[in-house]
Amino acid sequence: MTTSEPARSYPGRRAPGAETLAELDEALIDCRACPRLVEWREETARTKRRAYADWDYWGRPVPGFGPPDASVAIVGLAPAAHGGNRTGRMFTGDRAGDFLYSALYDLGLANRRAATHRGDGLELRGVRITSPVHCAPPAN
Ligand code: SF4
Repeated sequence: MTTSEPARSYPGRRAPGAETLAELDEALIDCRACPRLVEWREETARTKRRAYADWDYWGRPVPGFGPPDASVAIVGLAPAAHGGNRTGRMFTGDRAGDFLYSALYDLGLANRRAATHRGDGLELRGVRITSPVHCAPPAN
């Protein structure tokens, strides 16, 4: 069965049927339920910050990061416009992430300090990072 475009745009309707966190994340990244946030995240991805002009911004909802069976949750507010909204991973590519992942590394909960982009090899142990708002909000 093919999921219709309206259903893909409003994953809250699909969420109750998700059987795994990966399925939920897969639905999440298509979400367009909040017009104001969708416009902002995509506008930011188009205009970019000069320092990241050569980046292809993520510009979509940013899913949680870390193992699904984690016993500890770290809950942020929302992705940063030029951090998670650029890299597609929570707290990745911004100064808050530099601090957070360095601390997690010191505690033995991350395998490296640096979080620069998805695919950088960063892995978390027993911790999952998420946020109640998955899109970068206007005016932070
Ligand atoms: S903030 Fe949440 S509900 Fe709103 S568009 Fe982004 S993912 Fe969807």
